[in-house]
Amino acid sequence: MDYIRELPKDIPVIAEFDVAVIGGGPAGVSAAVCAAREGAKTVLIERYGYPGGQATGGLVIFIVGLTDGKKPVIKGICREFTDDLFEMQAAEQVGNHILFNPEHMKLLFDSKLSESNVEPYYHRYVADAAVKDGKILAVITEGKSGRQAVKAKVFIDATGDADLAKHCGIPYDIHEKDRLMPVSLGFRVGGLNLGIFNEFINNNRAIYDELIGQAGITVKTGGWVHTLNPREVWFNIVHENNTDCTDCSDLTRAEISLRRKIHRLIRLFKENIKGFENAYIIDTAPQVGVRDSRRVRGLYRFGEKDLAARFEDTICRAPNYTGKGNPSVEVPYRCLLSDGIKNLVFCGRSISVEHKLLDMFREIPCCMATGQAAGTAAAFAVSQNLNLRDIDVITLKERLVCQNVILEEFAQSVK
Ligand SMILES: Cc1cc2nc3c(=O)[nH]c(=O)nc-3n(C[C@H](O)[C@H](O)[C@H](O)COP(=O)(O)OP(=O)(O)OC[C@H]3O[C@@H](n4cnc5c(N)ncnc54)[C@H](O)[C@@H]3O)c2cc1C
Repeated sequence: MDYIRELPKDIPVIAEFDVAVIGGGPAGVSAAVCAAREGAKTVLIERYGYPGGQATGGLVIFIVGLTDGKKPVIKGICREFTDDLFEMQAAEQVGNHILFNPEHMKLLFDSKLSESNVEPYYHRYVADAAVKDGKILAVITEGKSGRQAVKAKVFIDATGDADLAKHCGIPYDIHEKDRLMPVSLGFRVGGLNLGIFNEFINNNRAIYDELIGQAGITVKTGGWVHTLNPREVWFNIVHENNTDCTDCSDLTRAEISLRRKIHRLIRLFKENIKGFENAYIIDTAPQVGVRDSRRVRGLYRFGEKDLAARFEDTICRAPNYTGKGNPSVEVPYRCLLSDGIKNLVFCGRSISVEHKLLDMFREIPCCMATGQAAGTAAAFAVSQNLNLRDIDVITLKERLVCQNVILEEFAQSVK
């Protein structure tokens, strides 16, 4: 490979914080709000111009997994955000799940960040980290303002892709791309008669499968649901295999291919499916939907052996979809920490779990719950002047219970 040598240059340090959260998805916003509420001077650095990650930019407008099917498993900040969405008339209960309007979610996240005094740094892509003696000194951001450094005492990686693990050179796992879950492009369609459309599909599954195939879609999964607007439906049925979202060339190919498939599919549906005659595309998601990329290799890796396990350092629960073990599992704090860097904590999709169990931990509620724990732990570490792995976990859990996080057994034991 040919190389260009970058000349050494000084990068301006534009600000210094207690806690810097990288990535403004559901996990990152939760982490930032919780860190700030616990008294830390906090910044949220996000590459796009809005918060929400997959929940807004990925058009994933459906929150699943607050319950184990019978009783609540996740409350805390996730419950607070969803209650607010209902109050804004921007959400609807669909069975156990919550459907929401992504534009209102952006607005809500902006307000929550502002009310908690989190400094939003949008339009900044974290491209590197300056590390010394096992600690991050600063992250390096890229954007229209050029290359800039942001210093903090503690960093939270909420990028979904464990970008800081890569930049800091600490171990992470990522599958070969032929074994990664497919990426998807969500899209919204207007002018559709959903009742007639659903009835037609139910009675003519073979025609639907044939059309999907003709549009070039080989991964048959996902579905569709009405949105909060009349005659409008959100689709999650167009997928692409063999895509590593940490490879820009793969992402480019996937985005172009997914858009083509969607337009082909809409044309075929309009010509062949009842209820779809007058349908039109409202939008495709501004960012491709990623399920699976880097996961940090943490102090502990949650595996199948842990489906019924109890941990002293449980910081939240996640619904268990495997049918084995308990209806919900405990998530240990150690899954959020890495051995290599003392002032870095992970949350959201990239925490330390076995690949085959990732589905349990990557849903929005669990990402918010690990974000809540990461933000609270970060602020606590700053206030005590301690490394993240040395904080008193009992006090952390007490703080989380005060924030309405469900840690039942622990809460009873300290009563
Ligand atoms: C197609 C699809 C359907 C899904 N369906 C559902 C569902 O129905 N219900 C459900 O609950 N969950 C669902 N999920 C899962 C869920 O949406 C995601 O796993 C969840 O949003 C992950 O949250 P996160 O905050 O960890 O990461 P993300 O939502 O990916 O957010 C990461 C944020 O970090 C930013 N970022 C990344 N790298 C950098 C960087 N280097 N510098 C600065 N910013 C950066 C990104 O722009 C983004 O805003 C679905 C996911 C997909 C892809």
